[in-house]
Order: sequence, then structure tokens, then C-alpha cells
Amino acid sequence: MANQEDIFRKVISHAKEYGYVVQSSEIYDGLSAVYDYTQNGAELKKNIKEYWWKAMVQMHENIVGIDAAIFMHPTTWKASGHVDAFNDPLIDNKDSKKRYRADVLVEDHVAKIEAKIEKEVKKAHKRFGDAFDKTQFLATNPRVLGYQEKIQTVLKRLGKSLEAEDLADVKNLIEELQIVCPVSGSKNWTDVKQFNLMFGTKLGASAETATDLYLRPETAQGIFVNFLNVQKSGRLKIPFGIAQIGKAFRNEIVARQFIFRMREFEQMELQFFIRPGTQMEWYEKWKEMRMKWHLSLGMGEDNYRFHDHEKLAHYADAASDIEFKFPFGFKELEGIHSRTDFDLSSHEKYSGRKLQYFDPELNENYVPYVVETSIGVDRMFLAVLSNSLAEEELENGTTRTVLKIPAVIAPIKAAVLPLVKKDGLPEVAHKIIDELKWDFNVVYDEKDAVGRRYRRQDAAGTPFCITVDHQTLEDQTVTIRHRDSMEQKRIAIDAVNHTIAMEVGMKYWLKKTE
Ligand code: ATP
Repeated sequence: MANQEDIFRKVISHAKEYGYVVQSSEIYDGLSAVYDYTQNGAELKKNIKEYWWKAMVQMHENIVGIDAAIFMHPTTWKASGHVDAFNDPLIDNKDSKKRYRADVLVEDHVAKIEAKIEKEVKKAHKRFGDAFDKTQFLATNPRVLGYQEKIQTVLKRLGKSLEAEDLADVKNLIEELQIVCPVSGSKNWTDVKQFNLMFGTKLGASAETATDLYLRPETAQGIFVNFLNVQKSGRLKIPFGIAQIGKAFRNEIVARQFIFRMREFEQMELQFFIRPGTQMEWYEKWKEMRMKWHLSLGMGEDNYRFHDHEKLAHYADAASDIEFKFPFGFKELEGIHSRTDFDLSSHEKYSGRKLQYFDPELNENYVPYVVETSIGVDRMFLAVLSNSLAEEELENGTTRTVLKIPAVIAPIKAAVLPLVKKDGLPEVAHKIIDELKWDFNVVYDEKDAVGRRYRRQDAAGTPFCITVDHQTLEDQTVTIRHRDSMEQKRIAIDAVNHTIAMEVGMKYWLKKTE
């Protein structure tokens, strides 16, 4: 078994080799933490966004979608708290000169303790065999309990000192835990400092009159400032939601782990407006609904977990992450936050406009409360890609590389392959493509032996291969091969469209979220 680091490296090189993701401006040696999506990546990304948009906007009568500008009036970011509080605590190692996020150093330390618990579980499982009860073991084993207590103590202390902005204590914690720099191995740390993550830019022709602007660090504020416009023009009644997909920019201190942490990325956010006092009910509902959306893609229940926050952001009264098991461990994929009336009230204060809702049932005006769900498109992309890449041993002793992307979001749904490049087979293949292309993204492939073409399509993540051979000319049938099972069936050309639709149709996959 390759180790996790090797697996992650494979994912990155596979992404480049098969047209998914490359470093931005690679010919100039790249730009740190900025990436470009190439042909298959662009399709996968588009499909992920569509799968989200359909589930959130199209499937809910009371949710609408908008597309706000990236530039916003600078006061927006005063009101949202980003100018004052969108900081990360950074720390430098004096020997390696490497910069880290202080909270991430502590969280990585905690992850190591979690790994020890997992090791204990594995050991015990081996010892007790089928009789092993994991829940009981976790609740009673003294060593595991000790580790859990340690984790709780560390996270509580970190949460408390970050909340109190006690950066000296964050440094004390790093020292007490004897955390070393992964590069130099030394404990020679600077003090912890705050660093604002927003990118500044200027609007206007001359230096004297130009206004300072920020590139938006989240899409949420574009929704809040449009709350009344959308509510009034759509005559929406609470509870209702406004969804948006768009770019966001953060000057991340440590940008590593490929597209997990980027400086330019994309978010899919929902702000759900509700009656004050109902936030816990909606928060729980949205946690459940969002988890169902993830599970509908069939990437394995065990790969997801909730992580409820100890430390709450300045705007939240409850927050939880959906974490996914990336090759480097469980990490945040999506955040679900109960944002109270913080944002709308703050925009009321700064803009002097009323951002309230008249509730006809209660016969009163109020500033709605908000529950937010926020997921990074790129992180979702990485979750899909890393979970899908597999090396499989085949019965004949060979191995194949296959990208088992859920068929519904796979970039190319089918490849049409003429068995040979002559005898009229390419013409039939092109005719099939001309029929399929109205509904699906399909490709034509005639180079190399058919077995090699199958391997190539497996590695690119194409769920179906349709092979045209001499029998096709006689009886109008083709061979359809499934990527995952490698099963091959002979079906009529007329049945190809329906067969593909049944397996890639968003409708069938989204039904699982009901
Ligand atoms: P983290 O703690 O990992 O920095 P966050 O809690 O700051 O993330 P949010 O502000 O809640 O993230 O943003 C919502 C979602 O946007 C995250 O769950 C993640 O999927 C995505 N996201 C945030 N920052 C980045 C980034 N730098 N690159 C890619 N995706 C990101």
C-alpha cells in the first residue's frame, strides 16, 4: 500500500496528465496557490456546480440564485467585520524561515493524536476480530480516553486564546506541545502575529482619486447587500434562501495541499433567511440536507464527518464543518453556520438603510436570522478526484488506473470507439456521436488497440465506452462497456442514449437527496 503522501502526489500528477488541473502560468514557473482547470477539469467543475445549483435552487421553491459582482463597495467589508477581524494568526520558524498558521500547527498536532487513536482501534480490531465493538472501545479504552482528553484540552485552549486574541498564549501552547517546524525540526519560533487575508486593489484612473477596494474574500456579502432587492422583486416569504456561486480571493498565509487552499477559489453559498429564534431548527435541518447531498454522490459514508466548532466566528452562534477524508486526513469541505442577524444588522448600521422583513403572520418587522451553507468548489473537486483515483489489480495479473468519478459529474460521459479505422466503422461511430452530443459530452477515439483505448478512458474517468465493430454494420448493435465493472454488453444503437441517461442523469442521483 502506498502511503498517503504518495497517493496525494499521484492525484496531482494524474490531474495534470489527464487534463484536469495545472499550476497557473506554469511556463513562468507557476504562481503559488493559483491553479488552472484544463479541459476535463473545467467540465468536472461545471458539473459539480450544476449538481449543487440544481439541488439548492431548482429543487427548492423558496430558494433563488443570484450572481453578484466581485468588487463591492469598500464599506461592505467594514460592516462584515472583514477589515477588522479577517485575520489569521501567523508564526515563523526562525531557522527554516518558513511561515505557518499558528492554529493549523496546533490542529496538525491534534491530527497526530487522532491518528494514534485510529491505530489503537485497528490494533484492537485485529485482536478481537468480529466481536469488536468500536463504539464501546472508544468509550472505555483508557489509552483512547487519555488521547481524547488531550485533544479536547488542546482544542479548548486554542479556541479560548484565539477568541480572546491572546496570541501570546497561542505561542505558549505551541511551545508547551513542543511542536517543531516540519522543515527545520526546530522549536525556534517567532511571536504569533495577526495577518489580514483580504487582497487590496484600486478603482480609478489616477493615484490621487483612486478608491481602495478589496477582492471579495467570500461570496456571502453579495447576497446580504441584495437581500431586499431579491426579497421584494421575488415577493419571497420567510423562510427563503438566496444562493450564489462565484469566485473569492484570500491571501492565504500557507498555501499548500494543491487546490485545497488556494488564493483564488470558488464558493457555492446559500444564505437562508429565517425568523429569529428558529435558527437551531434550521441549522440542524441544513446540516442534514447538506450531508445528504454529499452522500448522494456515493463516495462512501465513512469519508464524511461533522466537526462542531468550539471557537465561533464573530458572526456565528453555532457552526459545524462537514469534513472529508482527503489524502492528508479529515479536513473541512463545507461550513454550515448559524449567522444570527449579524450581517443584515451590521449593513443596516453602516448603510443607514432598513434591511428588514415584514412578517404578515406575526404582523411585525424584524431583521431576519440567517443559516449559511458554504462549500468550496475546488475542495469538492479535490474530494472527488482524490476519492476516485484507484489502482486496481485485474484477474489477468495486470493493473489498471481508473478514475471512478461519480458518473453524474464525470466530464465526458462516453467515448465512441471504432474497432478499426476502416470498413466504414469510423463513419458509424461519428453518426452515433452526432446523436449523443445533443444530450451528453462525448468523444471519439480511434488511436491504438481497443484495449489501450479502454485503459485511457478509464484513467480519464469516462463512465462508458461504446465500441463499433463489424457486427454493428450487420445488426445495428454496439458493445457498451462500464468503466467501474468493466462489464461489456451488446445493445442496439437505439438503446445507447437511454442506457447512458439512466446512469448519468442528475434527476436519478438527486432523488437520493430527498
Ligand atoms: P479554512 O479553515 O480551511 O481556512 P474557512 O473556515 O476559512 O476554511 P469558510 O470561510 O467557512 O472557510 O469558507 C467556506 C468554504 O470555502 C470552505 O469550507 C472551503 O471549502 C472553501 N474555502 C475557504 N478557503 C479556501 C481556500 N483558500 N481555497 C479553497 N477553498 C477554500
